[in-house]
Amino acid sequence: MKERIKQKNAIKRKSSSIHFLIWSAFLLFALAIILLFGISQVVIVRRTYMETVSRTLATNGKQIRQELALYEQSGGRDYSMFLISRMQKYGVNAYILDGDGSLLFPEKEELGEEFADFSAKLDFNERMAELKRRLQKESATVGDAILYTYGNDYVYGAMLPSFDGVGDADYLYVFSSVELSKAAVSDIVARTVLIGVFVLVLSFAVSGFISGALVKPLTELTDKAWALARGDFTVDFRGEAYGLEMAALADTLNHARDEISKTDRMQKELIANVSHDFKTPLTMIKAYSSMIREISGENPEKRNKHAQVIEAEADRLTSLVNDLLDLSKMRAGLENLKTERFNLSEYLLDVLEKFSYLTDSQGYVFEAEIEEGAFTLADRSKIGQVLYNLIGNAVNYTGEDKKVKILLKREQSGIRFAVTDSGNGIPPEELPTIWERYYRSSEMHKRPVKGTGLGLSIVKTVLERHDFPFGVDSTVGVGSTFYVLFPIAD
Ligand code: ADP
Repeated sequence: MKERIKQKNAIKRKSSSIHFLIWSAFLLFALAIILLFGISQVVIVRRTYMETVSRTLATNGKQIRQELALYEQSGGRDYSMFLISRMQKYGVNAYILDGDGSLLFPEKEELGEEFADFSAKLDFNERMAELKRRLQKESATVGDAILYTYGNDYVYGAMLPSFDGVGDADYLYVFSSVELSKAAVSDIVARTVLIGVFVLVLSFAVSGFISGALVKPLTELTDKAWALARGDFTVDFRGEAYGLEMAALADTLNHARDEISKTDRMQKELIANVSHDFKTPLTMIKAYSSMIREISGENPEKRNKHAQVIEAEADRLTSLVNDLLDLSKMRAGLENLKTERFNLSEYLLDVLEKFSYLTDSQGYVFEAEIEEGAFTLADRSKIGQVLYNLIGNAVNYTGEDKKVKILLKREQSGIRFAVTDSGNGIPPEELPTIWERYYRSSEMHKRPVKGTGLGLSIVKTVLERHDFPFGVDSTVGVGSTFYVLFPIAD
């Protein structure tokens, strides 16, 4: 009982670990998706944002330059006002700088406080050096413009005729930052969080559903297996809504249940049969010994007859015990096969010799067609048991003509041994069971070779251990042929 509770607890622990496994797998999956989504959002939004910024900067820069030319033509000279109004209109930074990066317009006094602070922080000297370097590389002259990135900024730079008459040229310097705005970033964060919550809820729901669907049938199967272990052979492992694999497992367990119940039934039958077969000779032995003691002890003739019965019954008991021992030793794999190469043709003739007394005394006819010199590789004495049992059965069950045919012939696939009788045959529904231990058809033996009901079981065990093909062809009312295919060992 304690053992069972322990096992049940172990099973419970394992089934909860399935829950845990699936849930953690889904959690990892969800986290990976959220992470991927967040990263892709940042990358995609940033790229589109940069494209838009560079495109609009190019248009805006050009526009400001054209407007500046028009403004000049129309006699406008308040460049500071002009630039400040354009900056507001287009949302960009626009300055006019001289060749060494000094700010010409908008003049410092004209800039608002905040804007002045911003402009003061700009490294105009370096920016100018970079612009000039790039213009030079392009061999640009007055009137030309270029577009490029500088740090986190997109820059539109144009070379213009000198505004203050100092030097050859001044420069229109327009730029926008490509840094994502705070609004854009928080937008991405909000979207990621939203999707994240959704994915998490969904993954918890799905993993809960999957592990439930998996664990429930497992628990059901476990309960049924316990019922089977308690000896209830009526349990049906098939359940509703089982997946393909669970259904396969249920089928396998059903098969195991059938096998166990068969073994259980056979074990009960075996005990019943063995006790019956032991009881009959023992009763006879007891009865005849009493008879010798009480009646026939003085009469040598009768006494001998009675003693013979006792001897015969004791022999029967001995062969029954020997067969049982052989079978259980072989089944338990305690006995190794002593494989050797031997002349099967001669060996079969030796075995047949043991049956020869039946020809003389009881009119049996053995029709033997035995090919000479057929060598095989097997455990000689075990094969002897096989031949003896199969021929013995044919003698026991053959028809009134008392004919038994024996064949040994080389074929492509091996040496075929076959023994045919002209008996009642075996009904097809009994065919699979005749090889089972202690199976016996209702008809009792009335023939010279007494069976123990273990013969075919021994034949099957020996041949299966050798891995030799064997079988039976039987037609009711015509007779049966039992055959074995031995390997050729020339
Ligand atoms: P038994 O000692 O009863 O012959 P076996 O294991 O040798 O035990 O055979 C099992 C059963 O198979 C037999 O009881 C019989 O019903 C059937 N059987 C075996 N050989 C033959 C045969 N040649 N013809 C008909 N039935 C057979």
